[in-house]
Amino acid sequence: MDLNYTPEEEAFRRQVRNWLDENIPTSGLRGFDRNADRDKSTLEKMKIWQRRVHQAGYLALSWPKEYGGQAMDPVRQSIVNEEMVRTRAPALIGAMGISMVGPTLITWGNDEQKARYLPKILTAEEIWCQGYSEPGSGSDLASLRTRAEIVGDEFVVNGQKVWTSNAHFADMMFCLVRTDPDAPKHRGISYILIDMKSPGITVKPLVQMTGDRGFNEVFFDNVRVPRRNLVGKLNEGWMVANATLFHERNMLGSTTTTQMLFNRLKTLAAATMRGGRPLTEDPVFRQRLADLEIRVEATKYHMLRQLTDSIRGRNPGLGAWVNKLVGTELNHDLATAAMEAMGDYAMLARDDGHAMDRGFWPYEWMFTLGLVIGGGTSHIQKNIIAERGLKLPKSR
Ligand SMILES: Cc1cc2nc3c(=O)[nH]c(=O)nc-3n(C[C@H](O)[C@H](O)[C@H](O)COP(=O)(O)OP(=O)(O)OC[C@H]3O[C@@H](n4cnc5c(N)ncnc54)[C@H](O)[C@@H]3O)c2cc1C
Repeated sequence: MDLNYTPEEEAFRRQVRNWLDENIPTSGLRGFDRNADRDKSTLEKMKIWQRRVHQAGYLALSWPKEYGGQAMDPVRQSIVNEEMVRTRAPALIGAMGISMVGPTLITWGNDEQKARYLPKILTAEEIWCQGYSEPGSGSDLASLRTRAEIVGDEFVVNGQKVWTSNAHFADMMFCLVRTDPDAPKHRGISYILIDMKSPGITVKPLVQMTGDRGFNEVFFDNVRVPRRNLVGKLNEGWMVANATLFHERNMLGSTTTTQMLFNRLKTLAAATMRGGRPLTEDPVFRQRLADLEIRVEATKYHMLRQLTDSIRGRNPGLGAWVNKLVGTELNHDLATAAMEAMGDYAMLARDDGHAMDRGFWPYEWMFTLGLVIGGGTSHIQKNIIAERGLKLPKSR
């Protein structure tokens, strides 16, 4: 096994690094921005940033060229992702489009849908949100009840979604609706694309424990959606939905964020004194750091194995589920270690002048807890890995 990058890949990394050093905005957006509560002007700056990354050729590198991609292998994309985190580049506002619905449309969309939607995902002209969860249908997603009836050339949608991230500024939603209420629950679902400006949609923001208004309730009252916005076949949306979940779980389990958090934790520990010496010299905390580093390294090699599978066209198996489970829990454990290192300072939020590391960690601790739940909780990932991967009996 060769874990080194080729000379060409290293040259590509240098090229990306130089571009980022020269192009990352020096005011307003710089930093590892987890903030979900985006005002209009921040949104606009984030769109401009994404457009600039796209124009430079560093977005969606593995997408086909005809839809704005670069038709490159996934190693290049992973190099760009690593460099973005390393340089603390601003977040990509269209991440749900780029990493979730975009790849789903490439596999499941028809030519007209690909041509219509994919380019605008990359240029940030259309921002997407995900309409899956409903009150009472989160882990048991297939029990969803938002109804879509076919009337002429349209679906007429009625019902409610909840925890819909970014719905308050999204232009489009990829949405699961029940199109056959009499079929077994996994069979009567369809995957449709809804214009968020359609009459009959009401978006009500929800405040998260971070204080952000990152997600929302979305109500549908006789919302009309053209039939051409159906992705895949009628009543067979569950397979399409799972394709999106596969991409989402890979995105949420990103190991580049994990590496960045670990490096930041080490810096914090080195600068924090306990008993007259830095925490990095405290035997108990050193042990903790060592345990965490072993887990960080293990996720890195898991990611490299997946990358190899993907280059060689091998089935990734349950890799994405393992990524999501291990990556999100590890990120939260890293934030927990930082909170403990900070002692009472962990109580101070981002806007407090006395906060350590500018209040990064308390926010990160709350945010990473959300990611353990979002995209399917750890319990659900464990069930899937146990049943599909280890062939254990089904959970009741
Ligand atoms: C930050 C964040 C962002 C989100 N963004 C979106 C979004 O954009 N779009 C969207 O559609 N949804 C979104 N969600 C919703 C998310 O997908 C759901 O919260 C998640 O699937 C869990 O569903 P639930 O909240 O209804 O919890 P429940 O399903 O009610 O689960 C409650 C508890 O029971 C456990 N549990 C449930 N069933 C089982 C089982 N069979 N075996 C073992 N344990 C079980 C769960 O693990 C959990 O601990 C987001 C959530 C968060 C936290």
